[in-house]
Amino acid sequence: MEYDVIIVGGNIIDGGGKNDPYIADIGIMGDSITSIGDLKSATSKNTIAADGLVVCPGFVDVHIHSEISLLGGRDQYAAVRQGVTTHLAAPDGFGWAPLPKNLAEELWHYTQFAYGDDEVPLNWNSPDEYLAMFTDRIPANLYPQVPHCAVRLAVMGWEPRPATTDELKAMERLTREWLESGACCLCLGLDYQPSANADLNELVYLSKIAASYGAIYAAHIRYQLIGRKAAWEETIEIAKQANIPVHISHERVDDESAEVLERIDSEDIDLTFESYLYPAGMTHLAMMLPMEYQTGTPDAMLANLDNQTVRDKSLPYLREKLGKGNQIVGYNRSGRYIGKTLIDSAEIENKSIEEFAYDFIQDELAIETFVMPWATTPEENEIILNQTATHPRMMIASDGVYNIPHPHPRSYGCFVQYLGKFVRERQLVSLKEAVYKMSGFPAERFRLSDRGIISEGLAADIVIFNSETVSDRSTWFDPVQPAIGVDWVLVNGVPVVENGDVNNQLPGKVLRH
Ligand SMILES: [Zn+2]
Repeated sequence: MEYDVIIVGGNIIDGGGKNDPYIADIGIMGDSITSIGDLKSATSKNTIAADGLVVCPGFVDVHIHSEISLLGGRDQYAAVRQGVTTHLAAPDGFGWAPLPKNLAEELWHYTQFAYGDDEVPLNWNSPDEYLAMFTDRIPANLYPQVPHCAVRLAVMGWEPRPATTDELKAMERLTREWLESGACCLCLGLDYQPSANADLNELVYLSKIAASYGAIYAAHIRYQLIGRKAAWEETIEIAKQANIPVHISHERVDDESAEVLERIDSEDIDLTFESYLYPAGMTHLAMMLPMEYQTGTPDAMLANLDNQTVRDKSLPYLREKLGKGNQIVGYNRSGRYIGKTLIDSAEIENKSIEEFAYDFIQDELAIETFVMPWATTPEENEIILNQTATHPRMMIASDGVYNIPHPHPRSYGCFVQYLGKFVRERQLVSLKEAVYKMSGFPAERFRLSDRGIISEGLAADIVIFNSETVSDRSTWFDPVQPAIGVDWVLVNGVPVVENGDVNNQLPGKVLRH
């Protein structure tokens, strides 16, 4: 028997989380795994020796701001070098299709903090037209979600009010269009404009549509507007009222969430969440303004900041939100202070932290991104991260941000950090459980039936790594550092990482639910 690729002698962790690792060969034909077993008598032009290495399914990142970087540029391979073979599109409900050009440009301006300054066409008339852009151009697979920000913007503009019945129907049509194009999930960013203006009625209404297609609901929940606890409860309410599985983006297990998580075990709520396992977030400073000053088009929002009353009301609010000023500048329009802390940048300009932040939003036209350390102490952080790393409802997702000069270290390190720090060093999670949380679990949850597991007949998305050396190298102040210990990554049967180096192949496909 002649195979396109044979992987010989690896220790297979199948991604399902249940079976123990076992040693076998894997035969690949085209984009599929066709045989698993003893393939000594088989031949292939491409034989990969995997003795002493782990062979597992490609990782599925359900929250990653990579759509633009996948198309090219410096960070194109940052995720695949960690073993990520499938990226979910539209995290936080961000997306720019299908929108008239002027609205797409406004939303691009608003979301640029997470996508950098590449030239993007912004003229897609349908989900399919947008998704067609990725054909033959990406190193890993892209799997669409319904981008709620774009859906609401198309129907209601930036209006900060609940939708009317007619508007809900119009949003339903667009949501269906995405679902018909293979979107697996209704995705929201409820701290971001314009999604933040959706009320529970709208969320339940659209969730019922998604549920009717077998899709799920995922959200950056409404931390800013109603507080974390109420935001968890709102998500649970949506699960109940719309009868839909729900997923919470970038969360953690601390006293507050542990209480809810314990309770829902007895209530039969179908809820999962994801974590990147670093004690800092990344977002734009504009999100730290009082919510009533975040609404409207980006230009209207900025014009409103010129108003002295708005400034006077915002400064104390910013002071409280920004604490010690230990946030790190990741990106801004003019390129200043990259990699410096907020407090150091403010000192250079002889300003208080809050004055600097307010002026910075204005000067940079709200195109600015910061790494935002948690307010908890380092000791508390370690406890939180450790208990998050092992939680049965948790899967790993990076929330990586690319195409910016100083990204969050999670962008380059999230998956390998889990394998190096939490599995090997701290021994909190077994290797098979960890692999499950990065492959089989997210694949199953987000309705990817042909991936996430090593099994005959399934897609040949495969990672081969050294469990003794796999590690992240990206740090808070030097984040653009590729992973180590990941020797091979195959996407649809084609090696993209070969002996630890990327080879510029682009075998990624657009996947459809
Ligand atoms: Zn988010």
